[in-house]
Amino acid sequence: LEVTQNFSKQSNIKVAVRLRPLGEKEIDEDHFEIVQILEDKVVLLRDPLEMMNQKDFLSMNRSKEKRFAFDTVFDKDSGQVEIFNNTTKTLIDGIIEGYNATVFAYGATGAGKTYTMIGKEHDPGLMFLTIKELFERVAKTQSDKSYQIKVSFLEIYNEMIRDLLIITNEVLELREDSTEGIHVAGLTVIDVDSPEEVMDLLFFGNANRTQEATNVNATSSRSHAVLEIQVEQKNKSEDVNEDINIGKLSMIDLAGSERAARTHNRGIRMVEGAMINRSLLSLGNCINALVENMKNGRNQHIPYRDSKLTRLLKDSLGGNSRTVMIANISPSNLCYEDTSGTLKYANRAK
Ligand code: ADP
Ligand code: MG
Repeated sequence: LEVTQNFSKQSNIKVAVRLRPLGEKEIDEDHFEIVQILEDKVVLLRDPLEMMNQKDFLSMNRSKEKRFAFDTVFDKDSGQVEIFNNTTKTLIDGIIEGYNATVFAYGATGAGKTYTMIGKEHDPGLMFLTIKELFERVAKTQSDKSYQIKVSFLEIYNEMIRDLLIITNEVLELREDSTEGIHVAGLTVIDVDSPEEVMDLLFFGNANRTQEATNVNATSSRSHAVLEIQVEQKNKSEDVNEDINIGKLSMIDLAGSERAARTHNRGIRMVEGAMINRSLLSLGNCINALVENMKNGRNQHIPYRDSKLTRLLKDSLGGNSRTVMIANISPSNLCYEDTSGTLKYANRAK
């Protein structure tokens, strides 16, 4: 029996798992559930070949089950606000104080990443709930400081960066210099004054993402979508040369993590799969190296330069920055390989 231990509480990296419910279509097509959550901490994954139907779940041969323990596991009935309260809400004080943080949704296509990050208009996800909370906190902060919230939204597709807030095919360059740090040259950055304004930008940007048909899902997202929220803090004094303190929160809806093999992709789609895997792999490698350094007090090299995604996140992963990973999984028997892969990836990040 493979039970993995909880990660240390001092860690700056928190890993959560979110299980989604079966959809109506899946129920109609007789999918059955192969995942169970035990005491909000443990994910129990059964091999579907071992199962005739769901009633057998607890009475089956247990030697084939896999268990993974995490800090937080959200069951299929957990709503958007519950996820928010237990993940990104805890990062907000730090952002207002000028620290950086990263939140990302990992998982196979169809596992619930976009639902978690963007959500539905009547049931918005983490990106909106976070912005809303930021506006409320900033308004409540009685001080001699003034705040401006700014957002940008980009995608990384085949290791190329595109602006999602305007309609364009232009490929943007990642630059690094001493004044601006790491930034994307020419990227649209919008000063926002209300959460509703951001909601519109999110739906616009998401519809603008590169989406291509694959055999798995006609609208599967093959790109990583990165929303960057900056909170700029200034003293309300007259001195215009005064330092501006900026906290940054990057929220990322990652491309589907399924292997190229499963989608029977050839040619372009296969190259694309390799590119997606390169970013996901290097994200995993950076997080693993950071976790190892934290656990063992070591100082091993963090391979940020291996992909666009990790280069972009360099100043928001590690150091004083905090990271939350939400690993999204489907309960369906047809997603066994993907779910198993996602849980292993998430497990390495603890
Ligand atoms: P992904 O972005 O990982 O490909 P989606 O977020 O698009 O997956 O989710 C796939 C489908 O499942 C969508 O129809 C979505 O509305 C639904 N879904 C995902 N997560 C949940 C959830 N927690 N509760 C209800 N429906 C969900
Ligand atoms: Mg999606």
